[in-house]
Amino acid sequence: MGNPKAFLTVPRKEAGYRPVHDRIHDFGEVEQTLNTKDRQEQASRCMDCGVPFCHWACPLGNKDPEWNDALYHGEWENAYKLLKKTNPFPEFTGRICPALCEKACILYHTTGEAVTNRENEAAIAERAFLEGYVTIEKPVRNGKKVAVIGSGPAGLAAANELNLMGYSVTVFEKNEAAGGLLRYGIPNFKLNKTVIDRRISVMEQEGVEFRYNEELIMKNEESSVDGTAVANSSLFTLPSSLKDYDAIVIATGTPTARDLKAPGRELKGVHLALELLSQQNRVLAGMTFSDEERITAKGKDVLVIGGGDTGSDCIGTAHRQGCKSVTQIEIMPKPPVGHNPNTPWPNWPVILKTTSSHEEGCTRRWNINTLEFLGKDGKLTGVKIQPIDWKPNPEGGRPIMVEAGEPEIIKAELVLLAMGFLKPEHPQYPENVFVCGDAANGASLVVRAIASGKQTARKVDEFIIKKKLRS
Ligand SMILES: Cc1cc2nc3c(=O)[nH]c(=O)nc-3n(C[C@H](O)[C@H](O)[C@H](O)COP(=O)(O)OP(=O)(O)OC[C@H]3O[C@@H](n4cnc5c(N)ncnc54)[C@H](O)[C@@H]3O)c2cc1C
Ligand code: SF4
Repeated sequence: MGNPKAFLTVPRKEAGYRPVHDRIHDFGEVEQTLNTKDRQEQASRCMDCGVPFCHWACPLGNKDPEWNDALYHGEWENAYKLLKKTNPFPEFTGRICPALCEKACILYHTTGEAVTNRENEAAIAERAFLEGYVTIEKPVRNGKKVAVIGSGPAGLAAANELNLMGYSVTVFEKNEAAGGLLRYGIPNFKLNKTVIDRRISVMEQEGVEFRYNEELIMKNEESSVDGTAVANSSLFTLPSSLKDYDAIVIATGTPTARDLKAPGRELKGVHLALELLSQQNRVLAGMTFSDEERITAKGKDVLVIGGGDTGSDCIGTAHRQGCKSVTQIEIMPKPPVGHNPNTPWPNWPVILKTTSSHEEGCTRRWNINTLEFLGKDGKLTGVKIQPIDWKPNPEGGRPIMVEAGEPEIIKAELVLLAMGFLKPEHPQYPENVFVCGDAANGASLVVRAIASGKQTARKVDEFIIKKKLRS
């Protein structure tokens, strides 16, 4: 159970990021690693509290105290086995999970210094690949076939789980490679794409078939996967390529980004965040784009609209592309630093987050509304914005936005819209079709997508078992 006194004597130590002057010139991962001694010492801080809330907070139910204890004792292989029981892809979550468990850690609540669960998880996963603890499992086939549409974390988790249960699984992916937003959204400086390739290779060796550049449109007479809900499954027809499958898992994510329909939206230089991020990741994978197609921040003043993580990824990308300046604006108020009395435990604390990209340099402003995109000869030159405030709504409900200053103009030759994604609607599918991940729940987190994929795999299994019993 860790070292019962370590939480008193060992302070939290994070590996930290590479220095800004070093990392800003490349797309290599920014996060560093601790040496083995320090890492094990960090694991020793997990004090095996009576009720470990980290289990509950982690959507995968990861058993952090168990694997932290193994890690503390230097039992790296055992730590990986314990971690693998609940998390099929700890090398992803260990890098990019916001660590919901750490905000539930008793040490966070008592001392403000949670156990470094996420980093410990990444360290265990990396050691497992390095030392060969990640073995290839060859499941006995059960004669049933499942198609998974979409290869983001949800689709990968569903495919992995079903494959290990003995199903023959084919993953259909519209892109040229697997990973979904892991590959075409999240920048390489947070998640190197070789980490995804390594996992796909394991899954392929274990028997999962991946078919790329195959966009499967699930249509009925009036709608598509991304379209309007139509509650009539009799109208629904499966694409002919799916007819032979016993079950189908839809894991197609949230394809529609929230747009900003302000005047001047059509100007050259106004883009959705993912247009920049996915293209940059493709460039790093060796793809080329014409000057006309290429979106770059090089030499430009950049304005990011949207104060969340996607916006932050745009900031880091703009820096690496050689921008002149970056400003990030957010319509909501600035969250408090450190502690927010409005989001007490067990809510997720809504507090100011400063990412590695913010550290690299950025003007951040809150309570700012966007009025108009300004341009010359069809090209963006600036954005008219307005300081605003939020007043309580006397009728309850959403607060009311009021003007709080004169409109101003922010100079910008590139605007990136990072304002979230629309939740997809789905028609009523036949009973052998299941939806998971962001496609089912709306834009969320990698750890939630993995948990949803695993859960859906179990539902598919239950459905097929029931069907076998019935027939
Ligand atoms: C820029 C950005 C940064 C993020 N950073 C983080 C982070 O740091 N940490 C975190 O936890 N979460 C992060 N997220 C959120 C996280 O990436 C998503 O919640 C997660 O990837 C959702 O997984 P998914 O499998 O449901 O969908 P996706 O990852 O969106 O995957 C869906 C897949 O389905 C494919 N597809 C869609 N339609 C079809 C079709 N008709 N036929 C075949 N294939 C199809 C797509 O090409 C894609 O590969 C970020 C999101 C963005 C946009
Ligand atoms: S997946 Fe995320 S929430 Fe779960 S244990 Fe790992 S870091 Fe914590």
